[in-house]
Amino acid sequence: MNLPQIPALPIANALTIDVEDYFQVSAFAPHIARSEWNTRECRVERNIHCVLQMLADHNTKATFFTLGWIAERYPQLVRDIVEQGHELASHGYGHERASDQTEDAFFADVQLAKIILEDLSGAEVRGYRAPSFSIGKRNLWAFDCLARAGYSYSSSVYPIKHDHYGMPDSPRFAYEVRPGLIEIPITTLRVMKRNLPSSGGGYFRLLPYALSRWMLGRVNSTDRESGVFYFHPWEIDTEQPRVAGISSKTRFRHYVNIHRMEGRLNRLLGDFKWGRMDHVFLDKLAQPAATIAVA
Ligand SMILES: [Zn+2]
Repeated sequence: MNLPQIPALPIANALTIDVEDYFQVSAFAPHIARSEWNTRECRVERNIHCVLQMLADHNTKATFFTLGWIAERYPQLVRDIVEQGHELASHGYGHERASDQTEDAFFADVQLAKIILEDLSGAEVRGYRAPSFSIGKRNLWAFDCLARAGYSYSSSVYPIKHDHYGMPDSPRFAYEVRPGLIEIPITTLRVMKRNLPSSGGGYFRLLPYALSRWMLGRVNSTDRESGVFYFHPWEIDTEQPRVAGISSKTRFRHYVNIHRMEGRLNRLLGDFKWGRMDHVFLDKLAQPAATIAVA
């Protein structure tokens, strides 16, 4: 694909990994009961060690949004992440969508995950990402819970239209959503009055690499903003057990181009400047900013 080359800018982007196993993916929830999680072959430890090696090869630090459920079972994995200089952050305890929980249940989940991650790692946990970007117009109380639980930032809102999530008219870049709590939205590129997903995950596997690179480059060069990129450990795992009985759409979204992912990530790590979420965003936003009321 021939797209105009965008000169590399010294703007750092945040590299983020959502630490969960393949059987915990929200789209598989109708097919794999939570009570079955303990019986499934776990792949996350092996996959995160591959990711850590890849980051070491590129001398890059990242943020790992980790489930409390995973941390309890793999405490050494959590310590490895911190010892290698990465940021440990929270993906909640049990990977329930915020939009499927009551306010009290959500608060208990995010508080428990923070306590478990901090106890196991000895590091302060400042960041949270909702499973499946599940903070939207109908559950903005989630931000109050995160502030009350002591988080400094959330990276949970995807300002796009999507069948499972999204808040397309919310701000595209970081803003103080509650006093002391910053929301760092998943990155989009604004084209013809629409926000296009430019941030990783399934879109990164589906689209040609050159297009993904161009979109993130545009955010750095035109918006002059840092981007957020995310992926999951199971996205580099070509050997993961296949889940049976899923729809063709779910199958496509989960498995498309998994065999290309590791190669593409290596290119992406070389083509842009990367850092941990807290280093890329919190230092920049340390000055007082106006609170944007979205409640
Ligand atoms: Zn997740």
